[in-house]
Amino acid sequence: MAESIEKPIGVTAKATRPQEFYDNIKRKFAEERDLRLNYRPEGTAQYTSDLTGALSRYEVDPYSSAVAPREPINDTVEVLFIGGGFSALLTSARLRERGVESIRIVERGSDVGGTWYWNRYPGAACDVVAYDYLPLLDELDYVPKDHYARGPEIFAHCQAIAKKYNLYELATFQTTVTSTEWDPVERMWNIATDRGDRMKARFVICANGTLSKPKLAKIKGLETFKGHSFHTSRWDYAYTKADLSGLEDKVVGIIGTGATAVQAVPGLGAAAKELYVFQRTPSSIDVRDDWPTDPNWARRLPQGWQARRRARARMEPQLTEEQKARQAALSSEEKVRRQENANIEAMMKIHRRIDQIVKDKTTAEALKPWYMLLCKRPCFHNDYLPTFNRHNVHLVDTKGKGITEITEKGPVFEGKQYELDVLIYATGFEVQKTGIYNQIKGEDGLELNDKYKEGIRTLLGIHTQGYPNLFIMGGYQASFQFNLTDMLQAQGDHIAACIEYARRHDIKAIDAKPDSEEWWVQEVIKHRGKTTRNQECTPGYYNFEGEFQRRQDGNYNGGFFQYCRHLTDVHARMEDHFVFIK
Ligand code: NDP
Repeated sequence: MAESIEKPIGVTAKATRPQEFYDNIKRKFAEERDLRLNYRPEGTAQYTSDLTGALSRYEVDPYSSAVAPREPINDTVEVLFIGGGFSALLTSARLRERGVESIRIVERGSDVGGTWYWNRYPGAACDVVAYDYLPLLDELDYVPKDHYARGPEIFAHCQAIAKKYNLYELATFQTTVTSTEWDPVERMWNIATDRGDRMKARFVICANGTLSKPKLAKIKGLETFKGHSFHTSRWDYAYTKADLSGLEDKVVGIIGTGATAVQAVPGLGAAAKELYVFQRTPSSIDVRDDWPTDPNWARRLPQGWQARRRARARMEPQLTEEQKARQAALSSEEKVRRQENANIEAMMKIHRRIDQIVKDKTTAEALKPWYMLLCKRPCFHNDYLPTFNRHNVHLVDTKGKGITEITEKGPVFEGKQYELDVLIYATGFEVQKTGIYNQIKGEDGLELNDKYKEGIRTLLGIHTQGYPNLFIMGGYQASFQFNLTDMLQAQGDHIAACIEYARRHDIKAIDAKPDSEEWWVQEVIKHRGKTTRNQECTPGYYNFEGEFQRRQDGNYNGGFFQYCRHLTDVHARMEDHFVFIK
């Protein structure tokens, strides 16, 4: 999930020290990055999301009852969504507003919600301000309970959207789309599923989410562990109990210290007999400034209040003439230098916070992140750092190496065996892949990932030539927003407008023109080459675990405002960018 902070941290931090101080820290960042890269030169291949065979149990849905038998479906709908998370929900709302009645969600889980269906680990919450993150608040006349929403409230909101827009009626749950093939004669998509369904749809929207398929680190002996184990996105409450009291007499281990672990660790530390946190790279942990929504403020909100907040997120930053002149006078190197120094100051603040909170000096040192701000996803939590002051909580700092071996008793590090009852994998997700579990074959039978072999090719990250009437949400070559739902809403508005255009003009198929696709690929490359940031960052999923040269395969870095402007421009000149088949 990629999201947005209210104001970028670092920007406000004042860089007042001699340049030598910042240069020395940058050198230390580079040393730490090299250390990590030397341990794991294989990049993204160090993980597997192919959870089959002995690993298939890590993907089993623990939240739903057994798969209910049903007859295969052989019908036709106008719009079919693959995935039932926010992408599908907010785009469906826009389609309903435009009179589209025949909408089906096909979803692997047993309800809508996507990320918020799967991620029910203790402490799950969103770091983006709830009034911005939760979509369709105006439409549902709902104001979130707190400044930051917790998992159950967000999941319930997803269900409320599905009810309001009557999306349950045609939805098929516990169903995985396995193939999506374009029929050039009928100008329809043929969709097959693991339940034997053979459906047809005029328009297909890949709404499978940005971080949906759990991944595991490839660790020697992982499958030999004899204790209990699960991935954070498949939390086993039958084992832990809802209040985690099932862990009272258990020695628990958790591998990973990303945004998920940061939220899960405080609860685990309070509940487990012993907790071992296996860390490779620490996260940066800032203050989480949360509060209950003031009912008086909520009551006074005028109609359309959230739409106005969203519109602001799409606006170009407003600078005064003086600010513009000051910016123009700076070389691009100087701008980068100033921003980096401010970011280093922000990271030093994160370090100071650790020193203030964590009592054991060795643990405090180990928890300090040594990389540039935003190289990894920043975290916000008030209980994570204090958890390491508990006597039953132990940080196992692998100093960038990570856990490389697991035996039947548990992980081993530097010859020491950690004997565990339960091992939890907080090792994240496959990133921004289109068509997970699903083969997408376009006009000439070419599978989408084969088309992408030499690099991703799209128009706006949404359309890809040769795959008519297919729309991709949350994939690469789209803009990156810390508040993912801002981005999804912009894409959803565009997709609904394209479908409305096709309906209005009696168009059966709409496909991106090759020149337009090429224009967008070059735009993506141009903006990704602007700084050496990806190369200088410590490995993580933001820079393909150090495979920084995959420039065209990432997000569009021209900024959200520019991205939205391109969406508008493309829509204003549909004939220039698309081929239409009547
Ligand atoms: P991440 O991919 O961010 O984290 C995976 C973790 O596993 C990293 O700490 C990684 O270490 C660690 N790891 C991998 N291999 C090993 C190993 N062999 N030994 C030890 N550690 C290892 O996944 P998350 O699920 O934490 O988060 C994914 C994303 O989901 C977040 O970035 C965020 O966008 C979103 N999210 C948002 C939340 C929010 O709003 N607060 C909450 C939760 C998730 P290393 O860092 O060294 O690679």
